Amino acid sequence: MNIATWVSEQASARPEAPAIKQGELVLSYGVLQAAVQRCARLLADRGVGPGDRVALIMPNVAYFPITYFAALWLGATVLPQNPLLKAGEIEYLWNDAEPRVAFVLEMFAEEAIKAANATGVDVIVVRPGEFDQLVAGQEPVAELTERAGEDTAVLLYTSGTTGQPKGAELTHENLRSNVVTCGETLLEISPDDVLFGGLPLFHVFGQTCAMNCAIAFGACLTLMPKFDAAGALKIIAEDKVTIFEGVPTMYMGLIAAQSAGNHDVSSVRVAISGGAAIPVETLAEVQRVFGFKLLEGYGLSETSPVASFNHPDRPAKAGSIGQAIRGVEMRLVDDDDVEVAEGEIGEIAIRGENVMRGYWKNPEATAEAIRDGWFHSGDLARRDSEGFYFIVDRKKDMILRNGYNVYPREVEEVLYTHPAVAEAAVLGVPHPTHGEEIAAVVTLREGASASEDELRDYVKERIAAYKYPRIIRFGGLPKGPTGKILKREITIDEA
Ligand code: AMP
Repeated sequence: MNIATWVSEQASARPEAPAIKQGELVLSYGVLQAAVQRCARLLADRGVGPGDRVALIMPNVAYFPITYFAALWLGATVLPQNPLLKAGEIEYLWNDAEPRVAFVLEMFAEEAIKAANATGVDVIVVRPGEFDQLVAGQEPVAELTERAGEDTAVLLYTSGTTGQPKGAELTHENLRSNVVTCGETLLEISPDDVLFGGLPLFHVFGQTCAMNCAIAFGACLTLMPKFDAAGALKIIAEDKVTIFEGVPTMYMGLIAAQSAGNHDVSSVRVAISGGAAIPVETLAEVQRVFGFKLLEGYGLSETSPVASFNHPDRPAKAGSIGQAIRGVEMRLVDDDDVEVAEGEIGEIAIRGENVMRGYWKNPEATAEAIRDGWFHSGDLARRDSEGFYFIVDRKKDMILRNGYNVYPREVEEVLYTHPAVAEAAVLGVPHPTHGEEIAAVVTLREGASASEDELRDYVKERIAAYKYPRIIRFGGLPKGPTGKILKREITIDEA
């Protein structure tokens, strides 16, 4: 077992078929396979072998899949990193993961080289053009190194539910099973498909559901190194994208960009949303504006990622993350790990072939997260009688005001129904007598206006009095690399 066999299998089956596209550049499966085997030589010459870590610092460019599969080809473990990390952050990861080699795209080399000087990691700077020649001159590594299913394939750093970034160890079997299940039962991928590659590949969502799903099924992945909505619509139209994948903020951007451009998106047969809750209003608007089916799924880095999904062949439920996927069990538990009654709120626990081996060199954090074989997600949800889950919130995002639990998501859903609201985040701010006060930060749609009082009254009329936001601020919202709103980075003056 080694998931790098996806490349060699597809290269034998369809050598001429397009595997990776990036602007004008198209790599066929045959060319990808040759590049992977030659690039593997660069690593082998540096002593990289089974179990060694190889870091990747690059955006969504064709070098990503080449270096990713080159490391796997030798049985090494890939450490994909957000290219925007600063030297200190890179150093933290490298001291923890101890990669032997790092591939770094030239434009991100400065911070990586600082980290390399401090840690001694061998950095290979990937200079477009020059690197191609270097790879072309290598003797291919013909033999793929076999691995066991439980051997680690990638190390994905995530904060998980608490604390410092930890390396989630995803095995070959974790990734294989999640990719096969997603490809077969959710996306129904065939070699004729073109998948949109705008989700960052260093993050689990883009890595499994876009890159690995495309390669495993012999489809084409069209890469977008830096996401912008108008550019994405252009790629959809030009490359005839059939499967679009994004996080909610990407869909919000697409809606706004489509009203300005009216691009042809008729090639898209299915779109999926994950990574964060998509407001019911946004989901409906996407389907109305673009006419394609948008299905929501749920998962985490620790679960490879997909755990639940609204299956394409069953009626989807708006606001639901769907049902547990094939090979995965989900249940809702209280703080004592006892399953809650139907309809009650509990923490999502996940068991199955997609659950990580553990956190790298961190048995305490692993034991805290995986108890009795169940991975504890830190997400609170309800389940209906048909097994559909509805995320209520992150456990730690819950607001406690005057002893009442307020789930920000419920308040955000109401704000999103207001015509002037483009984006909203609701959070708790410390309060001397209430414990926490409910605050909202709202981004208005372009050209729209609404006052603080108007929005407050709007929400107040629609939900219980203890839940409406007392503080409303206007402005932009900080986003993470996948476009997720980063609530913990929002600061609010309470005056
Ligand atoms: P990450 O490990 O970066 O993929 O983040 C995982 C977290 O994203 C989960 O624990 C959830 O809090 C959140 N998440 C993922 N998908 C959804 C979804 N469909 N609805 C709500 N939250 C989600």
